[in-house]
Amino acid sequence: MSDELKNSSGEVITPFPSRIWLSSPTMHGEELEYVTEAYETNWMSTVGANINETERLACEKIGCKYAVALSAGTAALHMAVKLAGVKPGDKVFCSDMTFDATVNPVVYEGGVPVFIDTEYDTWNMDPVALEKAFEIYPDVKVVVVAHLYGTPGKVDEIKSICEKHRAVIVEDAAESLGATYKEIQTGTFGSYNVISFNGNKIITGSAGGMLLTDDEEAANKVRKWSTQSREDAPWYQHEELGYNYRMSNVIAGVVRGQFPYLEEHIAQKKAIYERYKEGFKALPVSMNPYDAENTEPNFWLSCMIIHPEAMCKQVRGEQEALYVSEPGKSCPTEILEKLAEYNAEGRPIWKPMHMQPIYRMNGFVTREGDGRAKTNAYISGGAVGRDGKPLDVGMDIFHRGLCLPSDNKMTAEQQEKIIEIIKDMFR
Ligand SMILES: *Cc1c(COP(=O)(O)O)cnc(C)c1O
Repeated sequence: MSDELKNSSGEVITPFPSRIWLSSPTMHGEELEYVTEAYETNWMSTVGANINETERLACEKIGCKYAVALSAGTAALHMAVKLAGVKPGDKVFCSDMTFDATVNPVVYEGGVPVFIDTEYDTWNMDPVALEKAFEIYPDVKVVVVAHLYGTPGKVDEIKSICEKHRAVIVEDAAESLGATYKEIQTGTFGSYNVISFNGNKIITGSAGGMLLTDDEEAANKVRKWSTQSREDAPWYQHEELGYNYRMSNVIAGVVRGQFPYLEEHIAQKKAIYERYKEGFKALPVSMNPYDAENTEPNFWLSCMIIHPEAMCKQVRGEQEALYVSEPGKSCPTEILEKLAEYNAEGRPIWKPMHMQPIYRMNGFVTREGDGRAKTNAYISGGAVGRDGKPLDVGMDIFHRGLCLPSDNKMTAEQQEKIIEIIKDMFR
């Protein structure tokens, strides 16, 4: 691009003086009051009013009976996998295109993740592939399912398949707090469910997570396991393995102060998504899709996917990417590099788990069955399914998609600039 990039009123677009983030914490003031309260009353521990209140707020908002506040969403997933009864050697079906924290806790318990490919309608676990997986591995008893980028997946289909095969669902709602499926909050569809308050999530404690369930006994187990599994005795008595996973009352103060702002954050994120959608209308791209009839996402991250015919050549190795610029075409690597030049942060789509070196030996199931043999063909020649679409959907979305700057503090003017920068990539 030799000539300067200008906006519609002819002004030159220059880099942002301060960075536009993908998604950064947004504080409001009350957080500090609850943290100060913890300090002044000396409840600087893993017990206290902030923890109790945060758990109550979560139950009230989400509509579950019990919430156990923990140090991280990953810790909550570990507890959920234990509750689901995963034992060493057990295969567990997992969402494939997700953050690795969805699946690592399975391995903490000695389980073996088998990855289920993604569908194009919501970018979540494909129920057709899940059904195939039960044909191949009929003994599987646990399914870990995530709602990517705050968009609920095909909950009814997945639930009915799991019921038919008597499998327990662990729902990873870390990214989807506040999103609904048929007006019911995510984080209620599995037996054991998880939310996260990591710094870049829709609301944050700087860290933290929660295990959600309607099962009182399960909630009590997690309360015990997460605080070193002490038995009811005058001394430290242990019958079970313990963990130090409880949330701090200081962190809980931050989460408590954030909860009233959840809906505000969602509204801001939705406005960002809508502005991108409008701004990209003439481009050969689509936004991350959702089922508008049945779901209301929390719009945590706005993402886009480039239509196949508008992709310039791009190859990714294990550590770096190469592409060849072409007029009228672009690719995620080129767009992300350009955004970085203008001091804005984007990100590739979560690289699917079946493509990760650490999980290269694990099973992977697509809508047409065992995906391992067939995806090699995709890499070398572009294997398509009987429906003419790429067989490995996760790999395809990873190849053509990217996460856009989605920070709720980004102004409409700043976002217009980002839209202009991206439009220019397709000229
Ligand atoms: C953030 C995240 C987690 C982990 O939550 P932490 O609180 O960071 O441990 C798990 N799964 C998904 C899909 C996430 O995005």
